[in-house]
Amino acid sequence: MSMKSIFDAKEVRSEFEKASINASFIPLIWKHVITHHQNPNNTNTNTNTNTITTAIDWCEIPSLPSAAYSLLASKFKPLTTTLHSLHRSSDGVTTKLLIKLQNGSFVEAVVMKYDTRLGKYDGKPRPGGPRSTLCVSSQVGCKMGCSFCATGSMGFKNNLSSGEIVEQLVHASRVDSIRNVVFMGMGEPLNNYAALVDAIRVMLGSPFQLSPRRITVSTVGIVHAINKLHNDLPGLNLAVSLHAPVQDIRCQIMPAARAFPLEKLMDALQQYQKISQQKILIEYIMLDGVNDGEQHAHLLGKLLETFQVIVNLIPFNPIGTLSQFRTSSEEGVSRFQKILRGTYNIRTTIRKQMGQDISGACGQLVVNLPDKKSIGNSSLLPDIEDLHL
Ligand code: SAH
Ligand code: SF4
Repeated sequence: MSMKSIFDAKEVRSEFEKASINASFIPLIWKHVITHHQNPNNTNTNTNTNTITTAIDWCEIPSLPSAAYSLLASKFKPLTTTLHSLHRSSDGVTTKLLIKLQNGSFVEAVVMKYDTRLGKYDGKPRPGGPRSTLCVSSQVGCKMGCSFCATGSMGFKNNLSSGEIVEQLVHASRVDSIRNVVFMGMGEPLNNYAALVDAIRVMLGSPFQLSPRRITVSTVGIVHAINKLHNDLPGLNLAVSLHAPVQDIRCQIMPAARAFPLEKLMDALQQYQKISQQKILIEYIMLDGVNDGEQHAHLLGKLLETFQVIVNLIPFNPIGTLSQFRTSSEEGVSRFQKILRGTYNIRTTIRKQMGQDISGACGQLVVNLPDKKSIGNSSLLPDIEDLHL
């Protein structure tokens, strides 16, 4: 039997309950696991971490009830995943973590660092010290099959457990102090709903204490899951990969749009907005000649007029030679932005690209064998933590 992750909160709680051990010890155990990891050395080059992974012995944790030690040893591992390697971009802003799961699959998580960056408006170092955003994966592969996405081209392999999702944060915390988490890595988070909710609940609690306002879940638009998300996890940021203003273009590039028609999706978003009173982030990938024309900008503007949204235009990152798409021209993107801003008064940002030298892809992480190069470039989110949705 494979061991469970100590960060699988439900498993741990139920085992503790069966053994009559107080659940209040659980965050202390998590804290120990997090703090007893060594920091990888801060080199700029790619680092194989085999040598820096430390094993944690449950016996080292002081003052647990004695029944807890044997229970932990027989059922739980401090980490079920291992940090296989770290790849830092040459500018040092982006770090890609290649993480190996217990079943042998790999996922990637990407840390984007902000303390080296200057304030957008005044050019001064930002207050509040270092802060980083972590992009996490929720599945190995993805069922949704979007035609521009490298993860989609892999097909679906498996869901991550909640522990495996949280462990990405544990690994990333060794690289940097993480303030924001975005679910924009591999997979469709709302297609792994139960694990997503459990993982986020752990991230919100002690000892991680992330604020829900600093967690963003990006979805292709799984309507029934959007309908319950606010109830299960109030205060989160919702990002929706809209990518087209009308149903037929959406269907062309996103097969899932057939199951979740645009009209139903917009109704769900309207409802979400009403109960959450929060802005929604609309992601819109810019594909040359497909969805990036002026007419599309007007259709999008009209579609979103009654919403409180921020539109994030994402320049398409070619996914190897397979790609049938081209990136929109810079002028095209800025014309699109001007229409949304000027005519429809919609806050619209353009996603910058970072960390291309390490293919630190977020949202298009195809993980080949670690000795092969991942395909794809990066489309990271330097802007996302500043959106204040
Ligand atoms: N499955 C979720 C979250 C992961 S994808 C979703 O689709 O929202 C995160 C973002 O990256 C999505 O907006 C996705 O459409 C975008 N993306 C996928 N492939 C891309 C590519 N080749 N270039 C740019 N963005 C891409
Ligand atoms: Fe899945 Fe998102 Fe990629 Fe679509 S864009 S295939 S939903 S990961």
